[in-house]
Amino acid sequence: MENAKKENRFFDRARETIDWEERESDLNIRFLKTFEHAFCHSKAYQEMYDSAGIALPDIKGLEDLEKLPVLRMEDLVERQKKDVPFGGFETVDHDKIRRIYINPGLIWQPGEWEFLDTSWAEALCGIGFDAGDRILNTFNYHMWPIAFMLDSSVKMIGATVIPTGVGNTLMQVKIMQLLKVNGFMGTPSFIMTLIQRAEGMGLDLKRDLSLETALVGAEMLSESLRSRIEDKLKMTVRQVYGTAFLGCIGYECIHVTGLHVPDNVIVEVVDPNTGKHVQPGATGEIVVTNFNPTYPMIRMATGDLSMLTRESCACGRTGPMLKKILGRIDQATKVTGTFVHPWQADEVISRYPEVFKYQVVITREEYEDVMTFIVELVEDTTRSEMIRGRIERDIKDILAVKGAVQIVPRGTIPDLHKKIEDKRTWE
Ligand SMILES: [Zn+2]
Repeated sequence: MENAKKENRFFDRARETIDWEERESDLNIRFLKTFEHAFCHSKAYQEMYDSAGIALPDIKGLEDLEKLPVLRMEDLVERQKKDVPFGGFETVDHDKIRRIYINPGLIWQPGEWEFLDTSWAEALCGIGFDAGDRILNTFNYHMWPIAFMLDSSVKMIGATVIPTGVGNTLMQVKIMQLLKVNGFMGTPSFIMTLIQRAEGMGLDLKRDLSLETALVGAEMLSESLRSRIEDKLKMTVRQVYGTAFLGCIGYECIHVTGLHVPDNVIVEVVDPNTGKHVQPGATGEIVVTNFNPTYPMIRMATGDLSMLTRESCACGRTGPMLKKILGRIDQATKVTGTFVHPWQADEVISRYPEVFKYQVVITREEYEDVMTFIVELVEDTTRSEMIRGRIERDIKDILAVKGAVQIVPRGTIPDLHKKIEDKRTWE
């Protein structure tokens, strides 16, 4: 059974393994269709392109993408405030909107009448889910869209979803046990919480639970946490990367070579200052165009840094791949004059399998910056003092800045936390 789960699966094998040139010409057609639709039906895009001096015939295909301005979340929010609720990015009448989703910060998002986006379904198959699976969806069904998108995508692959949302850990463990749930979707922290709850209830994880595959996202998954969960449950844990407005942007297949970009998004990696493509293989900001017929996102900046590659993968997918997400452009922060990037902090912590979760907090005492790594350990240990000392030494070595380590009880750092929290005030 375990080996059967490691089979290489596809949502649409023909599309996912299509040769590069055919893919390009197919993407080109879909891009032009989306661009024209947005240009003709969305007030916001019309205004944006007008003021950039771009007319419809100027854009002849993907080769002209770089001519279009990059859309930043701040711009979208600004337009939504002036033109409540959707800012004029919508391309359909309001009676063709099924739900209004609410993203953190009261950012509105129209849910299409019929959910047609296949990017998450492609990811579900890619990570190893199959028709007939019973999948626990522990993402939050209140207000935010992600749980609904995944819910609809589970249907697309012919599997069954159990819509549990977050919380109720005791009940969720019981549900997994009684329904022989074999799939999980949620954050890495939450699956770990469920595992610990199940252990606390005296369950034998391998005998009493039937979990085989987990889709995790919305938080960083360290390799140590991945192998810890995989070992405890003899299951496969795979990451997805995406956003509410863009859909799935990348997912790991069974071979874990990087993040495969789904067939129905266009991913560019650009210089955040100019919006122009970086050299192949170089680091830049991820900018995405999707084909959403209700709320198309054209060149939307994610704020995340990565590298795009065309390396081949043993699974046979021929599309582009993102190397791992290297951090947020807006989270790099200067501490006593030196830039500290989230991925550098990850590099320090990745050496410690004992660490469950961490956050970097920057404060100011008198006239000096103080950097503190707040750290939760997987379990209480008498070695915590030694671990603390070692991490402090590695911070100095890797970040070239002095930092303190504070070990806190499990549950102190909230889910979906910022990796680097800058608490300095400048008056
Ligand atoms: Zn692959």
